[in-house]
Amino acid sequence: MPSIAGPDGAWYVFRVSRLADGAARADNLAAILLDYGGTLDGDAQHWFDHFVRLWTEAGSTLPVAALKEAFYAADEALAREPEIQSFGLERMVRTHVDLQLRHHGRRDDALAARLAGAFIADTRMAWDRNRPLLRALARRFRLGVVSNSYGNMPALLAEADLAPFAVVVDSALEGVAKPDPAIYALAAARLGLPTPTILHVGDSWARDVVPSAAVGMRSAWLAPPGAAAPADPANVWRLASLLDLGELLS
Ligand SMILES: [Mg+2]
Repeated sequence: MPSIAGPDGAWYVFRVSRLADGAARADNLAAILLDYGGTLDGDAQHWFDHFVRLWTEAGSTLPVAALKEAFYAADEALAREPEIQSFGLERMVRTHVDLQLRHHGRRDDALAARLAGAFIADTRMAWDRNRPLLRALARRFRLGVVSNSYGNMPALLAEADLAPFAVVVDSALEGVAKPDPAIYALAAARLGLPTPTILHVGDSWARDVVPSAAVGMRSAWLAPPGAAAPADPANVWRLASLLDLGELLS
């Protein structure tokens, strides 16, 4: 990564790099849409990767393929929970973990509590870290969330109390999901704004960057500094941390 000596002699690393000029300038920017998983609850950390880390830290020797199968089975089952729309963080994560363990044929209350507790604590830490930035952004831009979720994104965001969101688009409630660009067109329509005045921020190149850019939005990709952009980077701003969005306020 490029770095430069600051006025105090310390070396600063550029964590924000524009892949294309002007992609995320605040000029004519009216709204910012954000992905939830891996964007608002952790910098580019997919839920599955997060759980793999937590299982490993708990001493699991299960193969990653088995963890993956159980994770996605739990994901699908969670979406079918009858009361899912009311699930906040605790109930969502504890149910997800119980479903994963059930898929592994295990009954281990201590392990379930450890995995869920750590995931919940990590999420709350990310919420707390991101809240001041989001509230500052909300004073200048309308904010929204677009998420492939279970139908409980409105409940989850109410609990997180991050910032006032003008729109919350949850795939399970709308019947349209990423990577279908229609979900981004829907969010723009709800905002009543032309897409070039909207910046979308997300950690998935395929589900966030490509389809939001396809409907004409400006797009920011939240990715680890070493990750290579998979395709044509036109009109995309790159972020290593959600906090890099603070540059829009400067
Ligand atoms: Mg995501």
